[in-house]
Amino acid sequence: MASDTFEKVVALCKRRGFVYPGSDIYGGLKGFWDYGPLGVELKNNIKRAWWQDTVYARDDVIGVDAAIIMNPKVWKASGHTEAFTDPLVECKKCHKRFRADQKEEINGHERKEHGGKGDWTEPKRFNLLTEVYLGTTEPKQKAYLRGEVTQGVFVNFQNIVSSARVKIPFGVAQIGKAFRNEITPGNFTYRSREFEQMELEFFINPDKKEAERIFKYWKKERFDWYVGLGMDKAKLRFREHGDDERAHYARAAEDIEYKAPFGWSEFEGIHDRGDWDLSRHNLTYKDPDGDEEYIPWVIETSGGVDRSAFFFLLDGYHEDRDRVVLKLHPRLAPYKVAVFPLVANKPELVKKAREIYDSLKGSFPITWDERGNIGKRYFAQDETGTPWCVTTDYQTLEDNTVTVRDRDTTKQKRVKLEELADYFRDNLS
Ligand code: ATP
Repeated sequence: MASDTFEKVVALCKRRGFVYPGSDIYGGLKGFWDYGPLGVELKNNIKRAWWQDTVYARDDVIGVDAAIIMNPKVWKASGHTEAFTDPLVECKKCHKRFRADQKEEINGHERKEHGGKGDWTEPKRFNLLTEVYLGTTEPKQKAYLRGEVTQGVFVNFQNIVSSARVKIPFGVAQIGKAFRNEITPGNFTYRSREFEQMELEFFINPDKKEAERIFKYWKKERFDWYVGLGMDKAKLRFREHGDDERAHYARAAEDIEYKAPFGWSEFEGIHDRGDWDLSRHNLTYKDPDGDEEYIPWVIETSGGVDRSAFFFLLDGYHEDRDRVVLKLHPRLAPYKVAVFPLVANKPELVKKAREIYDSLKGSFPITWDERGNIGKRYFAQDETGTPWCVTTDYQTLEDNTVTVRDRDTTKQKRVKLEELADYFRDNLS
């Protein structure tokens, strides 16, 4: 990946409406981002694909959508008020703060700002939970914006078991916002203070061998999922957490990392949480077909929607001579099809193209373009990842065929109008 790809992708995101700095007209707010018209489609497509493949395609996973703010007792029981911390150090020379475990950033700061010599405070633990205050009368009730979506599943464990006819092993999926008061937000959306997670909590028998088997199974499933959606396998790897870096709840943890321009970076974690959460919440499971009562163990897959959206963009970004192409998998592309008349000043072509546009609109996210010449329109669609462009020309008026141009190969072929929708449908899976 070229060293300036990061800057180019960030600029493309703003120029074409994928991601804007949050509160942009007021100078932004560190760690907060807004998704534009194309970004919201990309993100929704990632979430939809995840839900489709994790919930609908399986018989053993169901979903929930829990509240962002929960009773603070949840965070006390889960250990987050005490242990959800990062070590913070402060530069004594300029009072800038860093995470003590991010050695590269600390070294970079010393090099750039202080001629390679640092003078740092001792590391202090800093809690990542974001506080909120509820109610109108003082003293207001202190609560937290959730630091991970996970706990919403655990606190509903009994409700789920008694209402949803599930039997161990089974999984509960959830997608939603999480908030962390990060010390050093940065690298675009990579480290934000507000972000979305797509998580699966998979409940299993409390057995070491079973935990190892299921852990291995989900590791492979999740890695293959990203590859199946087009991520370059050579830019993906697993990294196992050492004993000193595992989160307070984890018995084992491995990250899926992407080779980003700023180094190998985690965007999903596979965690063996054991019985940590359910036992902290005093919850047990009773087998409906027997008398056995026990605390299940949990294997978790915890992916970041924003980090994966960013990595899909980085991975898809290609320069091909004078064109920029976002090679997003068709399932993820914001628009699947762009429709245009060959020229905009021939009413009969525009009318026919409009009819085609209207006939496809109910089935696919599609876009219309009649600005500039056809070459410019192709380039504009390539840059936002639209896999196919449909052009209506004079031949269309005679034989009801259109040209379909492929984003990645730039090859064009003629397709009959009555076969058009099936052509895209076949290529979208
Ligand atoms: P890091 O070590 O980078 O701080 P983490 O190990 O604390 O991340 P987890 O608690 O395992 O992250 O969270 C699961 C996933 O949630 C991450 O893999 C990532 O995709 C996403 N995530 C976590 N923190 C952030 C953040 N600040 N901004 C964006 N996404 C995040």
